[in-house]
Amino acid sequence: MALQIPFDNSYARLPDRLFARVAPVPVAAPELLAFNHPLARELGITGTEDIDELARVFGGNTVPDGADPLAQLYAGHQFGHWNPQLGDGRAVLLGEVAGFDLQLKGSGRTPYSRNGDGRAWIGPVLREFVVSEAMHALGIPTTRALAAVATGETIRRETELPGAVLTRVASSHIRVGTFQVLAARQDIEGLRALFDHAVARHFPETRDPGEFLQAVVRRQAALVTQWMSVGFIHGVMNTDNCAISGETIDYGPCAFMDAYHPMTVFSSIDRSGRYAYAAQADIIVWNMAQLATALVPLMPDADAAVTRFTGIIHEMPALLQDMWTGTLLRKIGIVHPQPEDDALATDLLQMMMEQGADFTNTFAALTTGTARDQFTDRDAFDPWFAKWQTRLEREDAPQEVMRTANPVLIPRNHRIEEMIAAAVTGDMAPFSRLMAALAAPFDDNAEIADLRRPPAEAERVRATFCGT
Ligand code: AMP
Ligand code: MG
Repeated sequence: MALQIPFDNSYARLPDRLFARVAPVPVAAPELLAFNHPLARELGITGTEDIDELARVFGGNTVPDGADPLAQLYAGHQFGHWNPQLGDGRAVLLGEVAGFDLQLKGSGRTPYSRNGDGRAWIGPVLREFVVSEAMHALGIPTTRALAAVATGETIRRETELPGAVLTRVASSHIRVGTFQVLAARQDIEGLRALFDHAVARHFPETRDPGEFLQAVVRRQAALVTQWMSVGFIHGVMNTDNCAISGETIDYGPCAFMDAYHPMTVFSSIDRSGRYAYAAQADIIVWNMAQLATALVPLMPDADAAVTRFTGIIHEMPALLQDMWTGTLLRKIGIVHPQPEDDALATDLLQMMMEQGADFTNTFAALTTGTARDQFTDRDAFDPWFAKWQTRLEREDAPQEVMRTANPVLIPRNHRIEEMIAAAVTGDMAPFSRLMAALAAPFDDNAEIADLRRPPAEAERVRATFCGT
C-alpha cells in the first residue's frame, strides 16, 4: 500500500501574508537514515513499508497527496537584537496531520533564506533526532522526529559535509516571533487571525490575549523548569526559537551538562553566556515580555493591557522559583516541603558545583544511596548526607519519588558527537544504540554503563554549533 498521510492544513488557510507557498527542493539521491514508526502510527500515517518512497517523500522529492507546502514567516530577537524578518529559511511545513505539523528541515531555499543554502548536514539532523526523542522519553514537552533522510549531496560549511533532511513533528511551529512580526508590521488583522488560530490549536479555553499570555507563561515556566531538572541547556533561546505550544523547539547548539555549574554554556556563538544553564529562567521571562508586547495591539485599551500584561510578566519569576523549588526537592525525595529544605537543596548544589560533580549521575546516585562516590571531598558530603537522611524520615516514599525525578541516562554530548562521526562514515549502529537506550532513560542496566559515564578529559565537548 502506498504511503498515506491524512493531512488537514489549517495554517495554509490563514491569510497568505503569514507564509510563502514553496515546495521542498528535490535532492540528488534520497536515502532513508531513520524512520520513527511508532510516531507515524500515532499520527495515523499508513503505508510506510516502502523505504524508497519514505526517502522520496521525507527527502522532499515527492510532495505527498494532501500536502500544501509553505514556509512560515516570523521575526525575532536574536541574542536580544531585533531582527524584523526571519522565517523558515531552510524548512517547509508540508501540512498538518492529527493536529501536528509535519515540517521538513534542510529542504532547500525559500523566500526567507537570506544568504543561507536552505540545507542541513547529517550532524545536526541526527542530533535533533536523538535529542528530541530523548526529551520526549524524559517526559519533557518537545517537537518530535519522524524521519531523517540523507540527500546524497554535499553541502559547504567549514568543510564539505553530507546533507540530510529532518522531518520534525510539532503541535505547531507558532513562535513568539510569529506574533512579533505581525505586531511590528502593525498588521492587526493578521495578528488577530494568528491569535485565533493559536488559541484554537493550543488554548481553546482562553478567551482573551491576557489569558492566552498567562497560559503561555505557565507552559514556558514549566518547560524551562523541566529543562533545568535534567541539566538541559537549550543554547539559543531567541524569541523565534520559543514556541507558543510550550514545546522545546530548535535543537541547534543545545547540550546536556555533565559536571554541574550554573553558568555552563556550550554554544560557540553565546559568548556572553546569555543562554547559560541557570540564565534560562531569566531569559524566558524576557521572551514572555516580548510576547506580551506583541499581544498589546489586540487589546481595546492599550494602557490597561500594558498594566495587566506587566503584572503577568512580573509574577513569572516567582512562578518559576516555585516550580524550580518543587522540582529540585523532588529530585532529593521531598514532596512535603519544609522551610529548611531550600537550604538543604542549595547546599547540595553548591557542593556539586565546587566539586564538579556530574549532574545526572549525582542525582541518580542519591536515588540508589551511592552518591558518596560522586564527591571527592567526603568531609563536606558526609554531614550533608546525614542531615538529608534525617530529613527523609519525614517523607513517605522518597526513593519512589526520586526514581521518577532522576533519569539515569541523558544524551551526553560526547556520545552524540561519536554517533555523528560514525554516521558520516555510513555506520548507523551508534545511532540505533543511542535511540534504543534513551527510550527508557529511567531504567538502569549494565549494558548502558558506558553511555552513563561522563566524558573523559579528551572526550569532552567544549563547544556546540548552530545547525546551519
Ligand atoms: P536558527 O538559529 O536555526 O533558529 O535559525 C535562525 C534563522 O536562520 C531561521 O530563520 C532559519 O530558517 C535561518 N537559517 C538557518 N540556517 C539556514 C540555512 N542553512 N539556510 C537558510 N536559512 C537558514
Ligand atoms: Mg530557529
